[in-house]
Amino acid sequence: MSQAVQKAYKIRAYLTPEQRRAFAQAEGATRYVRRRVLGEMDAHYKATGTRKSLLAMGREVTQWKQAEETLWLKDIPSDVIIQELRDLKQAFEHFFRALKTKGSGRKVGYPKPKRKSASGAIRFAFDHRHPGKVAGWTGKKVILPKLGMIKLAQPERLPVEMPKLVTLSRDSSGRFFISFSVRQMIEALPVTGVSLGVDLGLIDLAVLSDEARIPAIKGLKKKERYLRRQQRTLSRRQGSKKGEKKSRRYLKQQQKVNRIHCRISDARRDYAQKASRALIKKADVIALEDLNVQGMMKNPRLSKALSDAAFRLLRTCLEYKGKWYGRTVCYADQFVPTTKTCSVCDHRVEEMPLSVRTWTCPCCGTLHDRDINAARNILRFAVTLGEGEGAYPEARGGVNPLREGAFAPLLKDSVETRTENRLPRFREGHAPEDHDDSRVS
Ligand SMILES: [Zn+2]
Repeated sequence: MSQAVQKAYKIRAYLTPEQRRAFAQAEGATRYVRRRVLGEMDAHYKATGTRKSLLAMGREVTQWKQAEETLWLKDIPSDVIIQELRDLKQAFEHFFRALKTKGSGRKVGYPKPKRKSASGAIRFAFDHRHPGKVAGWTGKKVILPKLGMIKLAQPERLPVEMPKLVTLSRDSSGRFFISFSVRQMIEALPVTGVSLGVDLGLIDLAVLSDEARIPAIKGLKKKERYLRRQQRTLSRRQGSKKGEKKSRRYLKQQQKVNRIHCRISDARRDYAQKASRALIKKADVIALEDLNVQGMMKNPRLSKALSDAAFRLLRTCLEYKGKWYGRTVCYADQFVPTTKTCSVCDHRVEEMPLSVRTWTCPCCGTLHDRDINAARNILRFAVTLGEGEGAYPEARGGVNPLREGAFAPLLKDSVETRTENRLPRFREGHAPEDHDDSRVS
């Protein structure tokens, strides 16, 4: 079985010095156009009380190219300017839509000018009707208007199909990437007949119900310590205080800090991609703990935010890969005492301190590894509770049938039904399209 998915790519690009200059110029131009368009729309509104359309603004931008002081706009790829206006149009649409449906969802602000920053991006809209004119996609090469051929780290990864939109971006440590998304057919992976419970932790990133372990990423602690040291150095440089002019040495140090940040997040993303791929390959059904609350409580002393981010990343990867490859990703309710319950006889102990790595069930005498037992419980409860009519959504609200007293009968029930091997109800997750299953190099 195969299905069409929107697959996102992000490939490292190497720009020549001229291309870097052209990029910086184009990026500056989009900021200029945005600022000026917003300014003139504002002025027009104040003077007349009516809104100027972006279509009209687009015509004006074309005229700017003829004006003496803005002749330089002619050197900017027109696709980039057009795309900036399109983005602006969308920003306005979002804003007005949010105004209409006030009180629901996120706050959307009025479109603002962009400030110059260490990272930036320009976007090229490719015209499919005249592929010859903008000539972007030829074989394994990307050619961007006014920039020419872009050297890529992995040209072999380029799909044949030309995307509608290509983004060229620079991250805060000065690396360039091209990114785009195309619709692609993805083959589901062969059925393995395996269901896995996954217990997320800090010593091991994941302990599985089949006793396998995925160790935590190595070497990260050292990198993080290094980062903290460099950040301290940065805070001593002139320019770190608000309102202070940033010194050269400050900017240099800032670049260094940015680079370490990028390296850490790359390593983490790479690792999550690999771990999730291994899990998806192995099992048809993957059960996780819901939310990260349990994971966080397991080790309150260690940096919560960091491990939390790692879990979330792994979870996100599992969710969209699961969708792609025909796997089921499900969750055990966060209030199920997965560590305190014996996965063999369902006996529940009162206390399970963090220091206990192995324990013997007082009821059935089974010797448990703490994490493997938890992983097995996660699998059992996610599978059986997930299928109950609406059992799950209510559990997330104020009334939680699984808590305390109400927990016991459900537990019994789940033990009886667990051999029936019914598939859990799939919980819709977020499958962000800006993720790629291959790593960013
Ligand atoms: Zn037991």
